[in-house]
Amino acid sequence: MTYSGLVSAAYFAVAVVFILGLKAMSSPVTARRGIVWAGFAMIAATVVTFFIPNLQNIGLMVLAIVLGAGVAWWSGKTVKMTDMPQMVAIYNGMGGGAAAAIAAVELVKGVPHGPVTSTLLILGAIIGSVAFSGSCVAYAKLQGLMKKSITLPQQNTINFFLTLLTFGIGLTIGYADSPGGFEIFLFFVLALALGAVLVMPIGGADMPVVISLLNAFTGLAVGFKGFVLDNPALIVAGIIVGAAGLLLTQLMAKAMNRPLKNIIFAPITGDAAEGGAEVEGTMRELSALDAAALMRYGQKVIIVPGYGMAVAGAQHKVWEMAQLLEEGGVEVSFAIHPVAGRMPGHMNVLLAEAGVPYDKIYDLEEINADFGQADVALVIGANDVVNPVARTDKSSPIYGMPILNADMAQNVIVVKRGRGAGYSGIENALFYKDNCRMLYGSAQEAVAEVIGHVKALEA
Ligand code: NDP
Repeated sequence: MTYSGLVSAAYFAVAVVFILGLKAMSSPVTARRGIVWAGFAMIAATVVTFFIPNLQNIGLMVLAIVLGAGVAWWSGKTVKMTDMPQMVAIYNGMGGGAAAAIAAVELVKGVPHGPVTSTLLILGAIIGSVAFSGSCVAYAKLQGLMKKSITLPQQNTINFFLTLLTFGIGLTIGYADSPGGFEIFLFFVLALALGAVLVMPIGGADMPVVISLLNAFTGLAVGFKGFVLDNPALIVAGIIVGAAGLLLTQLMAKAMNRPLKNIIFAPITGDAAEGGAEVEGTMRELSALDAAALMRYGQKVIIVPGYGMAVAGAQHKVWEMAQLLEEGGVEVSFAIHPVAGRMPGHMNVLLAEAGVPYDKIYDLEEINADFGQADVALVIGANDVVNPVARTDKSSPIYGMPILNADMAQNVIVVKRGRGAGYSGIENALFYKDNCRMLYGSAQEAVAEVIGHVKALEA
């Protein structure tokens, strides 16, 4: 086998490990192992790259790797669990940005490519730029640096013409023998603007779907760059991420009952002012002792965790309380909405971290019918995912989103700090219902207080 054949064979082996790693990630039991495998495959792919014949700029490559790995190591070690979604968004954007940067270098070098490679080069440049700027906007929104939704006048017309212009200029420079510097610059400015403009108006319940779509875009852009650079590891890794991201996007869009085209062209804005009828009535409070008694003397309790539980880091306390209730003969299960928290799978990760067994955790469609038989639905730091206006109020920005049927339980206890709205910014009709009581406090302290009372009731 030739030397370059050996490099290709090594890339192939790396690709196989990527696929096995991804397969392992499909089950929570083997996910940790899958991540380790994929990480080792990534290190191996990086090492193999140094054996490509006639490699140049090795010093710069090493410097970039050391800097990138250093920043990633530091941010990965120090990031707070509640800031994970932002970190995932920005890392994802970096992948898209890297793919776009490779395309920019190829265009500036002006090396002629065949028509297929030129098309992939331009598509990769556009998709990578959109993923980069779109992810930066998503990061800014999740970090609270930017309003959740900014809609421009004639938003769809702007989107349409910006797309047309970007593709038009892109294909012109893609097929030109030696494209001019200004045209290349203009092309990237337009592509980056397109990503920002597409994501700016998207808020509320559509955000998770768009984050997953941007992730798929990054994968596709990297895969296309693999074709341009003739690098099999990039092709396989990019296509795996692209395909997995597209499948996740489709699943989430389905779970949210929102066709993808509506998310992009008629997004949920996330501005309370832009829709939703006024909710009337008063919220009624209950004490931690009453909450403990309702659950301890009930037979079936369903816990609905949400973003507030993540912020408070209350998952361990919640699991401690659930175990106490189970010891007293109460049946306890956890209901997870597909967009609960701030990143796909957010609640599953937290509950797994706290040691909650997987067979106690149910998806929306598995558990929704059970709320009718539950004595208590305990809503901990969740809001939008249990808001019944999604079923009834056509003017609401979350209308049509499937919700957890917590309101159908005999009693609903909501743990939150005050009158704070959810991510979509709208009032929650559940909190005003006759069967609902509010237990005010930060999730960690409120649940700790309930635990104390449950223990006292046992004694
Ligand atoms: P929400 O964001 O709807 O509500 C969270 C609630 O938690 C707030 O009402 C807040 O009320 C309460 N809260 C905040 N801090 C605490 C605390 N320390 N202790 C107790 N309660 C607290 O959360 P959900 O999980 O119900 O819904 C997720 C929302 O986020 C959806 O709209 C979804 O579309 C969106 N989203 C989801 C993403 C994903 O991938 N999962 C990504 C981006 C957005 P108060 O201030 O009164 O305490």
